[in-house]
Amino acid sequence: MAQSETSPSGTYDLLIVGGGVNGAGIARDAVGRGASVLMVEQDDLASYTSSASTKLIHGGLRYLEYYEFRLVKEALTERERLLKMAPHIMWPMRFVLPHSKLVRPAWMLKAGLFLYDHLASNMTLPKSRAIDFRTHSAGQPLKSDYTKGFVYSDGWVQDSRLVVLNTMDAAERGADVRTRTRLINATRQNGLWQAELEDRVTGQTTTVQARALVNAAGPWVARLLADTLKIPNSKSVRLVKGSHIIVPKVFDGPQAYIFQNPDKRIVFAIPYEQKFTLIGTTDIPWKEAPGKVGIAPDEISYLCESVNRYFKTAVKEGDVVWSYAGLRPLYDDASANASAVTRDYVLDLDTQDGAPLLSIFGGKITTYRKLAEHALEKLAPVLPAVAGKSWTANEVLPGGDIGDGGFDAALARLSRAAAWLPANLAWRLIRNYGSRAYEIIGEATSLQEMGTVLGGDLTTREVDYLIQREWARTAEDVLWRRSKLGLHLNEEEKRKVADYIEQKVT
Ligand SMILES: Cc1cc2nc3c(=O)[nH]c(=O)nc-3n(C[C@H](O)[C@H](O)[C@H](O)COP(=O)(O)OP(=O)(O)OC[C@H]3O[C@@H](n4cnc5c(N)ncnc54)[C@H](O)[C@@H]3O)c2cc1C
Repeated sequence: MAQSETSPSGTYDLLIVGGGVNGAGIARDAVGRGASVLMVEQDDLASYTSSASTKLIHGGLRYLEYYEFRLVKEALTERERLLKMAPHIMWPMRFVLPHSKLVRPAWMLKAGLFLYDHLASNMTLPKSRAIDFRTHSAGQPLKSDYTKGFVYSDGWVQDSRLVVLNTMDAAERGADVRTRTRLINATRQNGLWQAELEDRVTGQTTTVQARALVNAAGPWVARLLADTLKIPNSKSVRLVKGSHIIVPKVFDGPQAYIFQNPDKRIVFAIPYEQKFTLIGTTDIPWKEAPGKVGIAPDEISYLCESVNRYFKTAVKEGDVVWSYAGLRPLYDDASANASAVTRDYVLDLDTQDGAPLLSIFGGKITTYRKLAEHALEKLAPVLPAVAGKSWTANEVLPGGDIGDGGFDAALARLSRAAAWLPANLAWRLIRNYGSRAYEIIGEATSLQEMGTVLGGDLTTREVDYLIQREWARTAEDVLWRRSKLGLHLNEEEKRKVADYIEQKVT
C-alpha cells in the first residue's frame, strides 16, 4: 500500500540517493548547515564500492604519472584532515616501494616522491626517503634481487566504518536516514521533487517531497538518471572492477608494500586485521549492470604473481582466505586504458524545471569530505538551505574525540577504566568505536554484564549497539562492514551471530 510522507517541516530540502561515502558525506555536511535531509540507501550502508576499496587515505602517488595534480593536491590535504577527524578508524602508514629498474627508473620515483611530499602545504606525516634493503628491516621479506627502494607516508581507513560514522553524525544532527530503501521513481512537480521510495524489507512504497535531489548512487549514477529519472545526460561513468585477496600474514611489521608490475600497474600488500595480508588491486573494465561482484580466478593469479615477484615467501591461490571486489564508478573521460581513466570527480547540476538535481560522477574515499563541500557550494545558489558556511574540516566524527595522546593513550585509559575487559577486546573497541566504546560498555562492570559471547570477543551488548546506533540488520552487516570479525569467527559462531540478530530485528 502506498503512503505519502513528508519531513516534519513538510518538504525535505535535500533527498540524497545513495548511502556510500559520498552520499553520507553530503548528508552530514548539509544537515550541519541547517538543511532538512533524507538519505536513502537501497541496501546496507556502504554495501557496494565504499566497502570494497583498498582502504587507503592517500594522495595517489600513481596519479602523478597521469598529471592529476589537482586531485593529488586535494587528496593530500584531505589526508591530513581526515587522520585528525577520526583517529580511531584512520591512521598513518609507511609504504615501502622497491625499485625495479625494469619498470620505472629510480630518478622518476625520486622525483614523484619529492612532489608527493611537497604538493600540499599542511603535511605533517614523515617524508619519503631512500632505503637499502640489505640493512633495513623492511627488506627482510623481499627477494635478494631487490636491494634499494624508498619509503613514504600515506594513511589507512576502515572504509565502511567511515561511511557509518558520517551517517551517524548526520542522523545525530537531525538527518532522516533510511537503509534498505530504494528510490524507484521521482518527478519534478511545481518546482519540487515527488519521490517514490520502496522499503525493501516490507515492500511498502511511500512518497516524499524534496526541494533538491542528490544522485550519489555510485555505480548506478548513470542508470538512475536514464532509467529511474528518465533525464538525458551527456556524462557517463566507466565501471572498472577492482579485486583484493586476503591471505595469512606474509610479512611482519606495520609497513605496507607497493609493488610495480611489468604492465606498469601497482599492487599493494598491506598488514590486515593483525593476522593477515591484504593484496590488491586489479583494473578490469565492467560492461554489465552494477551490483555485487566477485573476484575471477585470473585476478587471483595476477595478484599472486604480482607479489611473488617481490616476496621470498610465495603466495598461492590456495592461501586465499577471503576476497572482495567492487566497481569503481569513474567519470568517463574517454581514456583508452582502464588504469588511466581519471580518478577525479565531476559534479553535474541540472536546474531545468526548477527543482535542482546534482549528480556525482567519480570520487575517492579520500576526497569525500571535500567533494561534499563542493557539492553544496554548487547547490547553494539554487538551494539556500545549504548556503551556510562549510564546517566539516575540523569537526571530529563520532568517537573521534579520543583525547590527548592518540590511540595508545585512549586504549590505556579504557583499560584502566574497565580493567576487566580482555586486552584484545579493549583494543578492538577503541579501534572501531573510539570514545563511543564507553557507550557500548555502559553500566557493565564485568564481561558477564556485556551479555552472551557470540563468538571470539563479540558480545550481545556490542551487537545491540550496532543494531540500535549503526543500522545493522543482518550478520553480514556486523561481520563484514561494521567490523571484519567475519575473518576471525568460525562458521558456528557466525551462525550464532545471525540467529541473534534475526530474533532482535524481526
Ligand atoms: C577496488 C577499489 C579500490 C579503491 N581504493 C581506494 C582507496 O584506496 N582510496 C580511496 O580513496 N578510494 C578508493 N577507491 C574509490 C572509492 O572506493 C570510491 O570512489 C567510493 O567508495 C565511491 O563512493 P560512492 O558513495 O560514490 O559509491 P558507493 O559506495 O557505491 O555508494 C553508492 C550507493 O548508492 C546506492 N544506490 C544506488 N541506487 C540507489 C537507489 N535507486 N536507491 C537507493 N540507493 C541507491 C547503492 O546501493 C550504493 O550503496 C577504490 C575503489 C575500488 C573499487
